[in-house]
Amino acid sequence: MRTALVTGASRGIGAAIARGLAADGYRIAVNYHSREADAKALCRELQQIAGLPHILVRADVSDRSQVESMFHTIGEVDVLVNNAGIAQQKLFTDLTEADWDRMFDVDVKGVFHCCQLALPHMIHQKSGAIVNISSMWGQVGASCEVHYSAAKAAVIGFTKALAKELGPSHIRVNCIAPGVIDTEMNALLGAETLEALREETPLELLGSPTHIADAVRFLVSDRASFITGQVLGVNGGMVI
Ligand code: NAP
Repeated sequence: MRTALVTGASRGIGAAIARGLAADGYRIAVNYHSREADAKALCRELQQIAGLPHILVRADVSDRSQVESMFHTIGEVDVLVNNAGIAQQKLFTDLTEADWDRMFDVDVKGVFHCCQLALPHMIHQKSGAIVNISSMWGQVGASCEVHYSAAKAAVIGFTKALAKELGPSHIRVNCIAPGVIDTEMNALLGAETLEALREETPLELLGSPTHIADAVRFLVSDRASFITGQVLGVNGGMVI
């Protein structure tokens, strides 16, 4: 039985990834931070997709000791999807040091912690797949999201370097850079802005969490066995 840890799986993109990987036969470790009821409901739903002993684990990915306890609870992980993330919109001149630190603690250091704890088993097995969820804003930058854009760009650099280091261990590390995906993270943008973003997107659609889940399912599968260190844009053509 292969285990996939999906961080930030209580809702949005992470929940869709968990559903997709469960359908592919993985035992899912559903990580969440604050939304316990949503995460529990997802776990119950996954049980119906495939009767595996999926597992619910609370941890703030930015906190090393919580991530260590999470791995202690889960055990060995064959697939790691670093999806947990926060976003914030603020003028650069209004950003506080605390805003900056929290963004990097969750969106970058969380990836660092989870990879370090997942890797001993993967290296021992000489197999494994890691997918990090970055953002198109990490590729091209977003106004009023300097810290988010910088953090997501860091995830891209992290992915490329780790892929080179782990290639000889047959562990693949890739990155997805989503475009505008219809989740709570974007709800704060408001209907008008979302409509403008939809119109700006060549495919004239807002992305859905399943668009990202489908890309993750491909990247962790054997069909992607010669793909590592890549940034896959899943953005309806918004960034080409
Ligand atoms: P979302 O709806 O806001 O969900 C965020 C998820 O991350 C939740 O499950 C949340 O857990 C979890 N989370 C937040 N802080 C955490 C922490 N410190 N430790 C553990 N989990 C934490 O976001 P989303 O739209 O699904 O985004 C998922 C990922 O895709 C993020 O990395 C985001 O940056 C990236 N992304 C999203 C878009 C988009 O348009 N939506 C575009 C590009 C990239 P709780 O619910 O338990 O608090």
